[in-house]
Amino acid sequence: MVSNIIRKQEKRAKFAIGVDLGGTKIGAALVNKNGDIKKYIKNPTNAQQGKDVVIDRIKETINQLINQSGVNFDNISGIGVGVPGQLDARTGMVYSAPNLPGWKEVPICRIIEERFQVPVFLENDANAAAWGEKIFGVGQGVRDMVCLTLGTGIGGGLIFNGKIYHGNKFAAGEVGHIIVNKGGPHCNCGGYGCLETYSSATGIRDRIFDRVKKLNKNNSESLSKSDINNISLPDIFKRARKGDPLVKDIVDDAIEYLGVGITILVNLLNPKMVVLVGGIANEGDKLLIPLKNYVFGRAMKIMLEDLQIVLGNLKGQAGVLGAAALLWHSDK
Ligand SMILES: [Zn+2]
Repeated sequence: MVSNIIRKQEKRAKFAIGVDLGGTKIGAALVNKNGDIKKYIKNPTNAQQGKDVVIDRIKETINQLINQSGVNFDNISGIGVGVPGQLDARTGMVYSAPNLPGWKEVPICRIIEERFQVPVFLENDANAAAWGEKIFGVGQGVRDMVCLTLGTGIGGGLIFNGKIYHGNKFAAGEVGHIIVNKGGPHCNCGGYGCLETYSSATGIRDRIFDRVKKLNKNNSESLSKSDINNISLPDIFKRARKGDPLVKDIVDDAIEYLGVGITILVNLLNPKMVVLVGGIANEGDKLLIPLKNYVFGRAMKIMLEDLQIVLGNLKGQAGVLGAAALLWHSDK
């Protein structure tokens, strides 16, 4: 059925829709082949309402996007979807998604194809972001690159020979679960001391909370978890730069462990470019300069020749752009 749909759609090539499904919001963009976003909308995911509600909201978001864009549906070649979970892009099946309750074995491509009658492509959200930077962003023309999504968690996308590397079980690229300290904190993946437990927003906040708890064992007025969650990440980084003893070494550790993880990736994979995207990457040079110092001081010399460590340049839209670009640059 899909191949018939694809044949039918061959003439339609002007626009693609990219959907970035997150634990808190669903972003959707109508994109042309140059990577220009004609229309972008977002809706809350409300993930706790369960799988069926979220799927309906995805369909509704796509529908709203089409209606609000004013573009004739005949000009839309298909839909790409980035999902934060384990999945198989070849079959269009999402196996699990930790931040989306109830998402077990969801044939998301088939569901959306049935509704919109256009080809639907699937990718892990971090791979989609990497793909966006590769096709439309800072990685254009780069054959071998690693993209790290530094946000609530840490995701990764590996691009080799100009293609997304998926691995045997389609699960490759989990850079957030590189173990950087064997005695480190427990991680959501079941392991201990993963990069994500030190260098993600959640990891940084968890470590601050643990410290506050220890410092204020008998103090009922100490900061609660939600107090800490309400401190913005830029504020945490700013406090660290001012030398606030509560957060300084936690933020220093976050950057240094990120350096450890990137050095491992660089020595292992010899990429031409390492791209950083996501909320923490908004720290810009304040993150980039100490990070580069770390990696360039420790990785093997041959790996550092021509290596670039850079920020993504798609301003938070790498996910939707990469998802849309699956339509035009995929092996499916
Ligand atoms: Zn882990």
